[in-house]
Amino acid sequence: MEIKKRLLRDIALMTALSGILTPLVLKFINPSFELGYLEFTTSLFSNFALGIFIYFTLIEGSLKSYFESLSNLLSRLRRVKKVGKINEMKAYLEISNFSVKGNDFLSKFSKELLFFLNTVYEDELLNQYQKEINDIFGKTLESKILASKVYQFLYDRFGVIAICFYSQDKGEMKPIFFANFESTILDGLNEFIENDKVKVINVNNIVVNFLGKFQLKSVCIVPLVTESWKGAMILGKTDKFKGIEVAFYRRIRHSMAQAFRNAYIYKLLRRESSIDPLTGLYNRRFGLKRLREIIKLALRENKPIAIGMLDIDNFKRINDTYGHLAGDYILKKIAEIVINNIRENDLAVRFGGEEILIALYNTNESTAKDVFERIRKLVESYTFKYEGQEISVTVSIGYHVFYPMGKKDVDVEQLIDFADKALYDAKSAGKNLTVKF
Ligand code: GH3
Ligand code: MG
Ligand code: MG
Repeated sequence: MEIKKRLLRDIALMTALSGILTPLVLKFINPSFELGYLEFTTSLFSNFALGIFIYFTLIEGSLKSYFESLSNLLSRLRRVKKVGKINEMKAYLEISNFSVKGNDFLSKFSKELLFFLNTVYEDELLNQYQKEINDIFGKTLESKILASKVYQFLYDRFGVIAICFYSQDKGEMKPIFFANFESTILDGLNEFIENDKVKVINVNNIVVNFLGKFQLKSVCIVPLVTESWKGAMILGKTDKFKGIEVAFYRRIRHSMAQAFRNAYIYKLLRRESSIDPLTGLYNRRFGLKRLREIIKLALRENKPIAIGMLDIDNFKRINDTYGHLAGDYILKKIAEIVINNIRENDLAVRFGGEEILIALYNTNESTAKDVFERIRKLVESYTFKYEGQEISVTVSIGYHVFYPMGKKDVDVEQLIDFADKALYDAKSAGKNLTVKF
């Protein structure tokens, strides 16, 4: 039976009963009361009128409007949830005006209902955030970029102002990215990672610089653990972490761990396939590829490029005198000197056994001469020490500077060949020299 009909029936029964009982009760209390046809009809009518009054004020009035606004809210929520407009869900929940202050059954019911709707909203919100962050995870393979995107995301959504990412590297936890945190922020990080649980800690001694100085109130440690790689994300806020946030970190930390693990492995693979293990310079295969790219850029931007070939003088003799390991050490040290004396956009490649190709981007003849001379002199004056023995080492460098002058293309092999010829000249002229082609 329809609830309204049932209520109507109940009220009708109640008023009929009360209409009959009222005069009887009066008669019982006061035996002198005259109980007649008129009294009964009057009682029945007045009770009936009361019933109608109750029905219209309560059922058709306040209760109806309460439930109407309730179903209104629910249907709105259902509609916006369907089309994924989560923010509107929040807005509707905020303006929903159920009386939740009292302790009566209806207020309790409203409170519980709003509570439940809020969890539905939060769940929906987290689903959306999760989708967005998974998108970042899926599209980014470089751990620093990944970390900075995650930071941007958490700053926008939750107001996280300080972040630090740790990654396991050769068995140690190393910070790979931090924003507004100092590099070392927490002791016992390994313990947290071993515990493998998201943890919020209240702090009072961490001040960060973020558009001014701020004192952090709480820090959240999110261990990132996979079978083959471990790391951690540490977050700082000037207020408390809300339950929904922590729930979010719990939800995403496994896929986040996978993303960072992939980035780590990607880095290892790239390093392995592009870097010469002894010197840390690019290997020949990868270095040549990079050289072609740099030269292409030079052609496009019409910038000169200096290509030098460095060769250690009398290296055979050094190897023979001090041993192959001493030779390795010298090679490594010279690579270090080279790297420390060129810019980020330049290139150093282990081209042959003890030959290093150096490409200096946007560099004219006089600067090239300065750079190569500086490297030569640094090697000459450096005291190479291997197992207590001091070893004097010199290098020769041949170089050539290519000016695109509007050309669209150039033979890269030939440019290297020019540097090689100049190197040959340096060797013939007595070694420990820089010679221009
Ligand atoms: P020059 O001054 O004319 O260059 O004389 P050189 O003795 O250096 O002659 P060359 O460049 O032909 O000799 C290269 C030597 O470098 C031969 C090889 O034993 C040594 N060599 C090449 N790669 C390595 C390496 O990885 N480690 C060590 N220790 N020696 C290497
Ligand atoms: Mg050589
Ligand atoms: Mg040599």
